[in-house]
This record gives sequence, C-alpha cells and structure tokens, in this order.
Amino acid sequence: MKTILKIQELDRQIRKIKSGVDNSRESKLLVEFTKVMKEGRSFVNNIADVSDEIIKEFNEINRKYEMLIAKSEITAKHKPEMANIDSIGNLVDDANYLTSELAILEQRMRELTDKGAKLLNDYNAAMNKLKDTKAKCDALKDMIAKKNENAMPEIANIEAQIKKLEKQADSAMYEKYKSMLNDNIFPVFVHLKGNRCGGCQMEQSLNFIQKLKQKGMLPCEECRRIILADEQE
Ligand SMILES: [Zn+2]
Repeated sequence: MKTILKIQELDRQIRKIKSGVDNSRESKLLVEFTKVMKEGRSFVNNIADVSDEIIKEFNEINRKYEMLIAKSEITAKHKPEMANIDSIGNLVDDANYLTSELAILEQRMRELTDKGAKLLNDYNAAMNKLKDTKAKCDALKDMIAKKNENAMPEIANIEAQIKKLEKQADSAMYEKYKSMLNDNIFPVFVHLKGNRCGGCQMEQSLNFIQKLKQKGMLPCEECRRIILADEQE
C-alpha cells in the first residue's frame, strides 16, 4: 500500500507540473487570443456578406440606370416640330420623370459608394487586427511549447521513479489505481478525515466507518475514491 501511495504522490507532482503549464499566463492569453481570432474571422465573413449585398444593389441600380437612359434616348428621338401639343406634354412629363428617377439613382449610388468605402476600411482594420493576433498566438504557442519542453526532463525523472516503484506495488491494487486514473479520478486513495471522505468531503455513516476500520479501506459511495482507514494529515 505504501508503494502505491508513493506512486500517487509522484503522479501528483507530474500533474502539478503539467497544470502549471496549462494554467500559465501564456496559456490563458492563448485562449483569449484564440477567441479574438474567431470573432475577427466572423466579423470579416460578415463584411464579405454585406459587400456581396452592396454589389448586388449596385448592379440593380446599373440595370435601372441603363433602362432609364434607353428610355430617355427614345424620348429624345421624338422631334418636337412634328409633334402635336399633347405629345409635347407627354414628352415633358417623361423628361421630368426620367430626371427625378435618375437623381434618386444617383443619390443611392453615392450612398452605396460611401458604404463600400467604410466597409473596405473596416475590412482592412479587421484584417490587420487578425494578422496581429495570429502573430501573438504563434508566439504564445512557441512559449508554451518551450515550457512543455523545459518540464520534460523533470517529468521523465519522476516517471522513471514511478517505473521502479511499480515493480514493488501490489499488482491488483495498482491495476485498480490505474483504471481509476483513466476514469479521471485523482487522487484515488484518500484518508479518512474525521468522519469525512478525504476526497469529496462527504460525511460517512458510523456504520461505514466501523466497516472501514475493520477492512482497512473502502470505496467512498459518493466519489468512488478508496478511503484508507488510518487517519493522517
Ligand atoms: Zn468521497
């Protein structure tokens, strides 16, 4: 039992080193910057959608414009000297209508051009920010990789110690330990603390504690950790 507790202690050290890297300032920044990148990408995609709409509207205006021009050419071909007073009235109405329609189109065209210019500005700013954030992410990834690399010899050293201890450990108990590690339970072995489980702090019944004292160890019904009868720590 002592051997497995030693192994558990060594595993705890490895976990501490690894979580030190995972919880480092660099790792947290990387998570943040990755989020910024994601938001930036969706912003750029949105700009692309809006610019597609602008182009569609622009084409629509162009089509209307050409239609109006064609109409005005037809109107201009009418020779006033050949027309009677009624058709001259119609011509003036047509010309007025065409002029006002063209003015509306021109106004809309100007608005679209302004919108397009602003969009391009936003796009460039967003792309610059993306590039900048990407560079920061890459630098952080390098730093984290470096940290992991620096931690490797220490972890390897601890793992070598575990390897040695494994041979002396009770094999059935050690299998149990490893299978619980695989289920993401750590620590596996805990001591009874007063009348509570040293893992999940669940209060244990008197009956349970009596049985525990007889058997030396019993799994906690709440967290499945194996509670050791001897009170320590
Ligand atoms: Zn428990």
